[in-house]
Amino acid sequence: MSATPLDTDTQAAPTIVRPDVPDSDWNDWHWHMRRRITNVDKARQWINLSPEEEQAIAGVAGRYRWSVTPYYASLMDPDDPQCPVRQQAVPAGGELVEFSGAEVDPVGDTYYRKTNRVVHKYPDRVILLVTEACPVYCRHCTRKFHTTDVNGTYFRDDEGESFDEDLRYIAEHPEIRDVLLTGGDPLSYRDGKLEEIIAGLRAIPSVEIIRIGSRFPVLLPQRITDDLCEMLARHHPVWVNTHFNHPKEITPEASAAVDRMLRHGIPVGNQTVLLRGINDDVATMRTLMTELLRIRVRPYYLYHCDNVTGVSHFMTSVAKGWEIMEGLQGHITGFGVPQYVLTTRLGKIPIARPYFTVTPDGLRLRNHKGEEMLVDNAVYPITEADAR
Ligand SMILES: *Cc1c(COP(=O)(O)O)cnc(C)c1O
Ligand code: SF4
Repeated sequence: MSATPLDTDTQAAPTIVRPDVPDSDWNDWHWHMRRRITNVDKARQWINLSPEEEQAIAGVAGRYRWSVTPYYASLMDPDDPQCPVRQQAVPAGGELVEFSGAEVDPVGDTYYRKTNRVVHKYPDRVILLVTEACPVYCRHCTRKFHTTDVNGTYFRDDEGESFDEDLRYIAEHPEIRDVLLTGGDPLSYRDGKLEEIIAGLRAIPSVEIIRIGSRFPVLLPQRITDDLCEMLARHHPVWVNTHFNHPKEITPEASAAVDRMLRHGIPVGNQTVLLRGINDDVATMRTLMTELLRIRVRPYYLYHCDNVTGVSHFMTSVAKGWEIMEGLQGHITGFGVPQYVLTTRLGKIPIARPYFTVTPDGLRLRNHKGEEMLVDNAVYPITEADAR
């Protein structure tokens, strides 16, 4: 039975009349940055806030930043607080709940930090924390203390905008072949400033590849202009990893942004965070991964949600992650299957369940349907001692 205007027993929420924005503004990323939603009145232009959301917005004020681009708000279901886009960007009461084991930096960025901006945890690569600014402050941000916490940020105040000390560290460690610009979102900087940093890295002979972690393709794809892509292409090899969490985020605008990067020779990968109530089911994840392949984005990591202060309410069990991985592996092509990792002080640790066990007779294998077989040690020896 469909609702008609005469139905009186349904409690009608106020109809949202969304702003009528000319294309020239909508396609201009500066317009969106200037008009970011940072208060209840602006949010009401896009969504019917629930009482719980309004309470949470008031509750996090003074503690966590809140900002949403009109583009990302336009993807939200105006009437459903459970909308997966909305839950990533509108504060929730869970952010203020003290969860056991939660820490501001469980992954140890501050422990491995060598300069104001360089975190050196792995032998051949570092992250360079370019900024704490983001177009949208994702409620689940793993660096919430750095990006979203009003009193946060890992940066020391005394170094200001200078990257000199950071570039010097990288130059003095020639084992660093791979520098990942992250933040915050590095593309928050205008092209000129970004090019200065990238050119500074390119002047270091031992730096082979430059990677950028950016959620702009998801939060404000208009930022991915031809000018930006041309600038990045002048400094190849440059790789981009972005952060799609739900199929709803794969829009024509996002797809066009990815296409612009690919046409400029920039490979685009994706890192998804497993989030309770947002993407914690096989069907959603399978659609997400296959839709990413359709826009030629390669799934890279599936992160188990970190037990970060203000984020823990998004955590699922590890078993939920296993269920999702087993719903992907073998069901879709191997290059649509991300690696499921838990980020710890020891690094990103793959935690998917293996498809084999080692037995005295050989490898016991299983497949995506649960069928099993023994691969006899005489046929495929496991150890070098048994090998011919
Ligand atoms: C994630 C991360 C990297 C990059 O790791 P990859 O597995 O190469 O993508 C590098 N340094 C730090 C500190 C990181 O957290
Ligand atoms: S864009 Fe990335 S760094 Fe910024 S708040 Fe979102 S998850 Fe965190």
